[in-house]
Amino acid sequence: MKKKNRIYIIDVTNRDGVQTANIGLSKFEKTMLNYYLGQMGIYQSEFGFPSLEHEWNYLNANLELSKQGVMGDLILSGWTRAVADDVYAAVKHTNVKHLNLSISTSEIMTNGKFGGKKNREDVITMMTEAVIAAKEAGIETVGVNAEDASRTEVCDQRYDEDYLVRFSRAAVEHGADRIRYCDTLGYDRTISIYDSVKRIAEAVQVPIELHCHNDLGYAVANSVEGAMGAIDAGVPAYINTTVNGMGERAGNADMVSVLLALTKSRGMQGKDILDPKIDLTQSWKICNYVATAFRQPIPINAVGVGSNAFAHESGIHADGMLKDRSNYELYSPDELGISESEIRKIGRIITTGEYGGLKGLLHVYESLGIELEDERETLRLVQYTSAHNQRPLNEDELRFIAEHPAEVEQILTVTPNRK
Ligand SMILES: [Zn+2]
Repeated sequence: MKKKNRIYIIDVTNRDGVQTANIGLSKFEKTMLNYYLGQMGIYQSEFGFPSLEHEWNYLNANLELSKQGVMGDLILSGWTRAVADDVYAAVKHTNVKHLNLSISTSEIMTNGKFGGKKNREDVITMMTEAVIAAKEAGIETVGVNAEDASRTEVCDQRYDEDYLVRFSRAAVEHGADRIRYCDTLGYDRTISIYDSVKRIAEAVQVPIELHCHNDLGYAVANSVEGAMGAIDAGVPAYINTTVNGMGERAGNADMVSVLLALTKSRGMQGKDILDPKIDLTQSWKICNYVATAFRQPIPINAVGVGSNAFAHESGIHADGMLKDRSNYELYSPDELGISESEIRKIGRIITTGEYGGLKGLLHVYESLGIELEDERETLRLVQYTSAHNQRPLNEDELRFIAEHPAEVEQILTVTPNRK
């Protein structure tokens, strides 16, 4: 029997999320996020930039942790420009095995980025050269990103309408495994993205990734409808999300919103279309971790995890709720992992930090039930990690440091190499 095509999640918080202006994550926080994504059963994490020198230690240490099984089944993938030299740098300095290669397909961006020196045929040539380089270097999964895909056909009317099909076919013919349809500016509508994705997927029969931004408030809706375009064309879909919707400008498609939309919205219930490995009950934990790490509180009205998501005040609603939850709620707090004990656990921050001493540290680890192999070494790593993050650490972070000291040491090492 043919395998059922489903929708998978590729979280891009550690790549697109950290490109958000004014905020960021430390290498250790990015590591913890990969760990939480693995616990949640997310398919893949786009975990960083393998052509950037300051990412190398972090990327290699995470790949090593993944090999040890620490990240669950989570696939770790890197992002580079679709330029052969970036691919060479990535494979020279990191052990990354999965890559997405990005290039602009719209004329407005092609002209803007290459100063009018490259036309659309040059774009296809550069992209295929990068794909060949990646495949020859042993990269297992190559995704090709059509940046600004949503503005590609509209702005380029003097060319044939199926440039994206041609681009995608060329990518696949040279070994690409997926095409990432990027609505880079958040310009699409649900109907237009469904049609565009379906057209490409039908013509090329390649799995499609959806990468949607929220400039017009459409990111989640476009991700879901774009993915349905792929499914209806007979191929699997991969939605790019970020935790808490963090990302450039108005952000990316929010992970929890996408998961709830794929399982709870009209017509989706019982469809069983979402990757079954995903454990929604990890939502609350991961959203709170990312909020702490980015120092950006979860909005009170955030989907699923906002503090008002299950609060009911108006008389009619409260009365209806008391009679039966399903009168006014599509999902319940425990489905998202929000239980009383969880709230207490996550909310508590243990303050053994940058300036903590051995005694306090031992007390904290004892209360966590962890026996330390080398107390002084653990204290040193805890102090450095806390200084690196400029905040106290939570229980999972303390446990992680005790369990993986060598990798944490590598992740914390960001000294520039002297050439
Ligand atoms: Zn993006």
